[in-house]
Amino acid sequence: MDLNSSVTELPLVGPAYSKRLKRLEISTIDDLLHHVPRRYLDFSKTVDITDTVIDDIVTVSGEVTSIKNQYTKYGKKLQIAELTDKSGSIMAIWFNQPYLVQSFSVGTKVSLAGKVGWYARKKAFVSPEYEIITGSKKSVHTGRLIPLYPETAGVSSKWLRGRVAFAYPRVEKKLTEYLPASTIKNYNFLKYNKSISAVHFPDNSESAENGKVRLSFNELLFYQLQSLLRKRGWQKTNVLYKLGVDKKIIDKFINSLPFELTKSQKRSVVEIINDLERDYPMNRLLEGDVGSGKTVVAAAAALVSFTNGYQTAIMAPTQILAEQHFTTLREVFKKFKIRISLITSTKKKADIGKADIFVGTHALIHKVSKLDQVALVIIDEQHRFGVEQRAHLVKGTGKNKKSPHVLTMTATPIPRTVALTAYGDLDLSTLDEMPKGRKKITTWIVPQKKRNGAYGWIKEQINSDAIQVFVICPLIEESQKETMQQVKAATAEFDKLSKIFENYKLGLLHSKLKQKEKDGVMKKFRSGKINILVSTPVVEVGVDIPNATIMLIEAADRFGLAQLHQLRGRVGRGKVKSYCLLFTESRGQKVTTRLKAMAKTTSGFELAELDLRLRGPGEIFGVKQSGFPELKIASWQDINLIKSARKVAQDAINDENKYKKLHLYLNTKQTLAN
Ligand code: ADP
Ligand code: MG
Repeated sequence: MDLNSSVTELPLVGPAYSKRLKRLEISTIDDLLHHVPRRYLDFSKTVDITDTVIDDIVTVSGEVTSIKNQYTKYGKKLQIAELTDKSGSIMAIWFNQPYLVQSFSVGTKVSLAGKVGWYARKKAFVSPEYEIITGSKKSVHTGRLIPLYPETAGVSSKWLRGRVAFAYPRVEKKLTEYLPASTIKNYNFLKYNKSISAVHFPDNSESAENGKVRLSFNELLFYQLQSLLRKRGWQKTNVLYKLGVDKKIIDKFINSLPFELTKSQKRSVVEIINDLERDYPMNRLLEGDVGSGKTVVAAAAALVSFTNGYQTAIMAPTQILAEQHFTTLREVFKKFKIRISLITSTKKKADIGKADIFVGTHALIHKVSKLDQVALVIIDEQHRFGVEQRAHLVKGTGKNKKSPHVLTMTATPIPRTVALTAYGDLDLSTLDEMPKGRKKITTWIVPQKKRNGAYGWIKEQINSDAIQVFVICPLIEESQKETMQQVKAATAEFDKLSKIFENYKLGLLHSKLKQKEKDGVMKKFRSGKINILVSTPVVEVGVDIPNATIMLIEAADRFGLAQLHQLRGRVGRGKVKSYCLLFTESRGQKVTTRLKAMAKTTSGFELAELDLRLRGPGEIFGVKQSGFPELKIASWQDINLIKSARKVAQDAINDENKYKKLHLYLNTKQTLAN
């Protein structure tokens, strides 16, 4: 048996089990050993039978002195056994496990573990874990910390424990350490094989934890290494068109703007321009809150492409956002003779040929252009990231691999440490401040009893200032796709509000509408023909409606903080003061803390970090929806471990000699994967 052997080499694992195990992502022995317990039951306290105390969780060992099946009044089968050691006897009962009568014939030596309770007015173990004692074999299910694993239908923790106990001693010697001794010492890690045995057969909870730390580190390390190797691969790609940068023109552009760039915008422009002068293509992520001014920064990059005589393609996830970029670009390039073209489904290819910058959705751009004259691709993915998408842009193979420069933009505020790991193959620029003069948005938490008051207040605001309102329906399921249930909820909310706001114009937006209908609704909202727009949570993030000053979010407690923050970012773009109303029925402590943070904090990065701490990474905006990588053993909350893994990965890339074993291991792993 080998680490890469199929689990079917284990006794009891045939096609049926192997299929079930696939659901747990277990196909090989190695996968099985990396199936880390969720938690442990502490059966380590072993006592004499006479010393068992009601409600104690203990292990006892003895001889079966009687066992029988018994029917209850309700026709259920009970198994009743008596276990005796030198100090006394105790009863044990199980439900519907008639085969036990065969396994536990009188005289069998057995260990029982569980909570001591009552049965028929006698002290008894009810449904305890059990294990037949055979010779000197170590116990698996009793007398120690017992792992509880992530399970699936037909695969119990008990069954998994049995398989792990069989497999581990057979492959133990093959779990060779691949980290240098100095690294292990430096970080106080368990050795690799020790960490596997520590999570499955821990001596105590501390060693279980130490085992998990090392395995988490391994996972993060490989994650990092892969990113860094991908980055190295990218750096071996040739740039499609070599660009020269004329700093004077950039300065002219910046000076032509009606506003001054923020410090972080200036820094990002410099970072991008430096990338554009290199021989290998840029692969950079520009991260910044909604409204932080990413488009102008991207425009500076497009200007470089233009002055070199090439085109720039800007890809947006939706038509509405493409239109918005188009408008912003026309605005910032007003004083330049740059032809900007918005790609729509009716636009002809000939028109695109004449444009210097073309903006459109991913789908439309791919349909109309081979990107032949494009030196720079800007991907405004919002919360959709794609390694594949970038890979798609690379042309040729081997030494002839070529790619345009790629700038990806996102409004998802991912904490820096997490971003550096999750997107370690990208260089990162962050816009961590808002342009001057933005008005602060006031955020209120609105309890149920103030709902009607809030509606009245909204009416007053519309009447006096002709402002517009977003109403976001509750998040029902965390999924990328909007479900029918979600659409129904939005429709119901729309009907309800149509009665409450009967003298006002309401619009409804959800993804089940046809694109034309959606665009129609947005157009009406933008031109002020709709007062209140009711929408599902899955709508475009960056939509710019300066006259919308109230953002009302239903069941705000169901959203991640960063997600709330992004929704809130859709107001506060005009001259009138803006408000964000968070409706909630929940009064839990955690909810209150989170929503209060919303009211206090205006930085998306701060909120994302807080969310990471309070709720875990699954809740950071878009994490589940964006294909944000999920970790099996480690957690995105392990910030310090992430930092260590990053450091070691970087070290390992720089010093192949010191990390020879790690590189060998990585190579075999990759060969196996291919
Ligand atoms: P986002 O980062 O959400 O894409 P945009 O690039 O759309 O933000 O910018 C939002 C608005 O702010 C645009 O109208 C843009 O022209 C303006 N803007 C960008 N940078 C600044 C700045 N430094 N000062 C003032 N306004 C700015
Ligand atoms: Mg934007």
